Amino acid sequence: MMPCIGDIQVVVMMGGVGSRLGEIVANCPKPLLPVGGRPFFEYELKLLKAVGFRRFLFCTGYLSSEIEDYFGGGEKFGIRIDYQKDSQDEEGKAVLLGTGGALKHACPKLDEDFMLVYADSFMDIDYREVVYRYFEAKQEGALSLMTLLHNEGQFDTSNVVYKDGKLVLYDKKSQASDMEYIDYGVNMFSRSVLDGYHDGEVFDLSDIQHGLSLQGKLEGLIVRKRFYEIGRPDSYREFIEYASERFDRPKKAAFLDRDGVINEIVYNEDTELLDSPMKPSELSLIPGASDAIKRLKEAGYFVFVVTNQPAAAKGKTGLGDLFDINKRLTELIPEIDEIFMCPHHPKGDKRSRERNLIKDCACRKPKTGLIEEACTKYAVDKANSFMAGDSFTDVKCGRAAGIKTVFIGDYKCDVCARLGYDKPDIIAGSLAEAVDLI
Ligand SMILES: [Mg+2]
Repeated sequence: MMPCIGDIQVVVMMGGVGSRLGEIVANCPKPLLPVGGRPFFEYELKLLKAVGFRRFLFCTGYLSSEIEDYFGGGEKFGIRIDYQKDSQDEEGKAVLLGTGGALKHACPKLDEDFMLVYADSFMDIDYREVVYRYFEAKQEGALSLMTLLHNEGQFDTSNVVYKDGKLVLYDKKSQASDMEYIDYGVNMFSRSVLDGYHDGEVFDLSDIQHGLSLQGKLEGLIVRKRFYEIGRPDSYREFIEYASERFDRPKKAAFLDRDGVINEIVYNEDTELLDSPMKPSELSLIPGASDAIKRLKEAGYFVFVVTNQPAAAKGKTGLGDLFDINKRLTELIPEIDEIFMCPHHPKGDKRSRERNLIKDCACRKPKTGLIEEACTKYAVDKANSFMAGDSFTDVKCGRAAGIKTVFIGDYKCDVCARLGYDKPDIIAGSLAEAVDLI
């Protein structure tokens, strides 16, 4: 079972000097480099907080007091931050132990399982899936999970062989011709991987991960979005541009319900009812939906899918299948910026393996949690945004979020009664038709 995101410890490696940045970091540690008037790492921290992470351990080294002065105990961000300083010699100078050695030094403060990220990177992926897949894989004997990007030499040297849904080899030191993936920078670890080392030993985390891959104990998870990092002056400038585009210039957004709007509802033979797809192979797009989303993108919209998927909470399918369906959807329609999914259900079902999903959450539509999460992660011009869906709950949700509403499908009496006879802004037969009207 997947633990609550808020209980997961996030370990942030931030001890590095950033020597490739030269003068820029003479008096400023990398995580604090300014981007649009804010420190670089604040962007990633806010992303992690939006997902629900609350507990952080910052492993600091270079200019650690500057970092501590700024982030403090995390109160101003609504999270908790603990610190572990790199080891120092008798004169108070940092002893460089490598990423593995620095983590071993932090061992007394580590949870039994934790997530590890780097403070010089901006990584926007589905962190809930990362946590879920790690705990699934751990039951099968894995001790770590590595996120992977299909790279083919695009960003840096590829270092992972991934075949038939399995991570076969991770090796940073010697390249093989069938390495098409690169480690992305978000990892989950069991603390026990550090057992064979002693505090003060110099080693790299990649040594551990290489060893685990040879033993078949390193799970791989492929992610879709590229990462940004600020290790070099040009990549730092690139992020400044990206951040200003995404966070400083509000853009209108199309919030789209999924089932019945983008993909067809599926007839379930077991229940003899129409239902959401339960596995990727059941996902079939509604004619015109993909093209409608392309047109929204061309018109300058963010495209966010906001979807209630209670099937895992009800024990009808696994949470992994729900992630897979979403992944398939973004493969079919790459113009989708992000899928925000509520996997909860207030009552659930006794068949569910995922008891944590059974709760009265703040994200299940008609509540507005999913839209709010999107607005935290992107600069959204709400006055020109809309929510489109085929249920009265979608319309209610859009209204509660203060954006325009579009009803898709047959606007029958039961729907209008549930909406208090107050019509949505637009009524259309399909998403394609709705986009014509907008
Ligand atoms: Mg729907």
